[in-house]
Amino acid sequence: MSETAVSFGIDEALKKLGLNQINEGTSTGSNNFGSGDAIASYSPVDGALIGKVKSTTSEDYEKVMQAATSAFTEWRSVPAPQRGEMVRQFGEKLRELKEPLGKLVSYEMGKSYQEGLGEVQEMIDICDFAVGLSRQLHGLTMHSERPGHRMYEQYHPLGVVGIISAFNFPVAVWAWNTALAWVCGDVCVWKPSEKTPMCGVACQNIIAEVLKENNLPEGISCLINGDYKVGEMMTTDTRVPLVSATGSIRMGKIVAQAVAARLGKSLLELGGNNAIIVTPDADIKMTVIGAVFGAVGTAGQRCTSTRRLIIHESIYDQVKEAVTDAYKQLRIGNPLDENNHVGPLIDTDAVNMYQKALEEAEKEGGSILVEGGVLTGDGYESGCYVKPAIVEAKNSFQIVQEETFAPILYLLKYSGNVEDAIAQQNGVVQGLSSAIMTNNLREAERFLSASGSDCGIANVNIGTSGAEIGGAFGGEKETGGGRESGSDAWKVYMRRQTNTINYTTELPLAQGIKFDL
Ligand code: NAD
Repeated sequence: MSETAVSFGIDEALKKLGLNQINEGTSTGSNNFGSGDAIASYSPVDGALIGKVKSTTSEDYEKVMQAATSAFTEWRSVPAPQRGEMVRQFGEKLRELKEPLGKLVSYEMGKSYQEGLGEVQEMIDICDFAVGLSRQLHGLTMHSERPGHRMYEQYHPLGVVGIISAFNFPVAVWAWNTALAWVCGDVCVWKPSEKTPMCGVACQNIIAEVLKENNLPEGISCLINGDYKVGEMMTTDTRVPLVSATGSIRMGKIVAQAVAARLGKSLLELGGNNAIIVTPDADIKMTVIGAVFGAVGTAGQRCTSTRRLIIHESIYDQVKEAVTDAYKQLRIGNPLDENNHVGPLIDTDAVNMYQKALEEAEKEGGSILVEGGVLTGDGYESGCYVKPAIVEAKNSFQIVQEETFAPILYLLKYSGNVEDAIAQQNGVVQGLSSAIMTNNLREAERFLSASGSDCGIANVNIGTSGAEIGGAFGGEKETGGGRESGSDAWKVYMRRQTNTINYTTELPLAQGIKFDL
């Protein structure tokens, strides 16, 4: 057991979550039967082995699909508010286990304990949202053009929803999908990231208990584990009508094509390259807080992390100085220690990509404002801790066009009016989150207009990072176009049916067509 595990109570947390040294990574509810090779999960916090999770073989996968498809035939007929009751109980269990689960998220993924707790809170919030939604899955009623006819639409469950998730939100992304999918009457099969498999097993243990207590079929929630090959089992499987995939653009392009080839539906939540525009009318204090939290929070490993600051030339030096000063106060270290602001990257591959990106930026003519580097020595033994860096760059640099999943912030300058800044902000292939810092109403509205930000999320006087579950979450362009979480995102988990009922003794045809016999 590592020192971190002892001093921060990780061992206790693992026990509360029902985790062992070797865990079954293939499971339907309470039934575990993983038989593939074990995936070892090492903490980026201290490099210690947290535990192992068995991967899913194709035979295991078949068992899972049988359990899921059979559970669906029962679950789809349970009234939606009763399905909501199951989700309510799940939310209650999450409240009870918020601390151990938040701790595990922090220890396995590397984000701060506060952010780990915040991630579990998002799960709780989406459960609450879904419970209300379970009484509101409504369609429209239309007037029929034919006399004595009634026309309306209703939503029915889709079937098995396949969920593929990324390492950086190892538990919340699953809940955003499942809480909605379950009240919609779907059953879920989840493949978590192979980098955070213990979080997957912990979540499955929690929901398995709820299903058991309610005497519900265990196939309502299934877990499979492994790398992309296990993900592919679902993307090519016609028994999975919807695949919700969160991860890199590279992965999304492969998944989208595999699912489309069989005319399935996909919900894609992919990479971002998020910018904050800072206009001459910005509140500099708010700008600094938003930009620094956005760039270094979760060590720059959020899909909504701030990667570019587009600053007007008239205040460029002032903002540059304020942000640079703020970076001097950052404390990098164990994310379970609440005194630290920045934790580790997920693994040493991510560290290599961070280093390469900084080299590339310099090669392309960027000037390093706050130097990066890998930390070594006491407390940094995992080799995953890096210094947040700031680079003065140009939007046209190839490296600035890419999403590097690390704490690197590019400072870009604009001159002229806000249109110039919007053109830079939109001048990338990704379209997830965007923000403008301004007290000028005209600039703000211009940014939000149809010719403004082209992103799925556009904020005024708030940074790019993070979002509330009440709104639909997702991005445009190569971010994939998917929406999950709040608003009417639930509709993607259901199929729409239009019904017309004739309560007369005549059979009039639509569009006035006559067909006399
Ligand atoms: P990744 O693409 O490497 O992996 C994501 C998941 O996809 C993993 O479970 C992986 O096993 C699976 N996968 C990979 N190739 C696959 C294939 N061919 N078929 C089926 N499954 C496959 O991403 P990552 O490094 O875990 O996460 C970081 C990325 O995720 C970043 O780009 C980030 O922006 C993005 N992300 C986006 C959102 C969003 O909501 N837009 C949220 C979180 C993360």
